[in-house]
Amino acid sequence: MKNINWMQEVEKRKEALIADTQQFLRIKSMLKEEEKSDGAPFGEGIAKALAFMLEKGEQDGFTSKNLEGYAGHLEMGKGEELLGILCHVDVVPEGAGWTSDPYSAEIRNGNIYARGAIDDKGPTMAAYYAMKIVKELDLPLNKRVRMILGTDEESQWRCVDHYFAHEEMPTMGFAPDADFPIINAEKGICNLYLTQEAKAADGETILKELTSGRRLNMVPDVAKAVVQSKDAQEIAKRFERYVQDREGKVSVEGEMAVLELRGISAHGSTPEKGENAGLCLAAFLKHEKLDAAGAAFVEFTIQSFENDTRGKNLGIQYNDDITGDLTVNVGLLSYTEAEGGKLGLNIRYPVTTNLQETLAALEQSAGAHGFCMKDMSDSRPHHVDKDHVLIRTLQRVYEEQTGEEATLLSIGGGTYARSLKAGVAFGPLFPGKEELAHQKDEYIEIEDLLKATAIYAQAIYELAK
Ligand SMILES: [Zn+2]
Repeated sequence: MKNINWMQEVEKRKEALIADTQQFLRIKSMLKEEEKSDGAPFGEGIAKALAFMLEKGEQDGFTSKNLEGYAGHLEMGKGEELLGILCHVDVVPEGAGWTSDPYSAEIRNGNIYARGAIDDKGPTMAAYYAMKIVKELDLPLNKRVRMILGTDEESQWRCVDHYFAHEEMPTMGFAPDADFPIINAEKGICNLYLTQEAKAADGETILKELTSGRRLNMVPDVAKAVVQSKDAQEIAKRFERYVQDREGKVSVEGEMAVLELRGISAHGSTPEKGENAGLCLAAFLKHEKLDAAGAAFVEFTIQSFENDTRGKNLGIQYNDDITGDLTVNVGLLSYTEAEGGKLGLNIRYPVTTNLQETLAALEQSAGAHGFCMKDMSDSRPHHVDKDHVLIRTLQRVYEEQTGEEATLLSIGGGTYARSLKAGVAFGPLFPGKEELAHQKDEYIEIEDLLKATAIYAQAIYELAK
């Protein structure tokens, strides 16, 4: 077999690759369920983006399939085994503050700017051209190669649920939807609630309500509490001193003091990077003489989570060499006098964790304070062994193409690759590059788009030959 210069093959197709990427980015493919129709369960834009890729594939001689608009695929090659490349055509809403129209795909300073440029339409087009190159070079393959196009990655993954209920699971595969070099381990993600029953309040100072956080996978950055007391003015003064070094405000009306403060948001997989506004407010309330139920809520909250994002206080700390520490984010704190208390936890656990034991320990710690565990949902950890042929091959290809070491990464969890049985996240963001997915002025560097295409082309060939 002669040596193929993959980058040269990409360069030959550079103009078309850039033009196709721009055209693809100009389709506004965000979720619009109110627009859904037959064959377009997530709205017109997403259906259009899916059709765009499938039509392109048909023109280039791939076989294509559209699964009622939930997902689709493009396939080439022959063989028992199947190599999967998992991409998605949906994007998050563009938001405000863009320098250029987020759907113009304008090129400035060698970058293509658009919603979806790096997540995930740019990489989707790179992977598509990679398949196209392998096809046009007419290289012998003994696996089938299939690009799977998801449509609901940014919301509920209903696309892959539907897809894999009807289609075969690839033998192995990769998702160009995160970082280079290779993410082969992702923690498990467990969401649950700890609830406390409401009790009639007694005492001089009553915690009427406390609210903080909207999503379990984010560190809450605002918190608000309402306290009723004859000493409302005194409480307000103490609170003002407490929030001297942070952002906060208080207002008093009669016996009601409304306390508000700001923290710092962070992703639920890295709670230590944030400052949990709800915990911060609870820490203040701990020193006030609250009614019994309010005090119990605040006390349990502080005792369990203050200065501890690793589950130590709850007795559920754990750590392994593959994925590091178990983390706990208190994404939601809510208490009302009428309904009682509720804490929403986002727990990210290492791949070797015994989840049953962890949950039993948690239930026990919470139970000792009168809290019950409710509405647990779990997404299992994801791990492909470092010696798997998939990993070995991708490492070799990455090192050949970039001259850099292909270290294996483990993360707090949640890449699209976890919907494959033996799948890893493989690019498109190169180490040290700015990450602008989901933000304004999202872009992909054209140089990186080309480089990723060359890497994917060689990877597809090496894995399927
Ligand atoms: Zn994505």
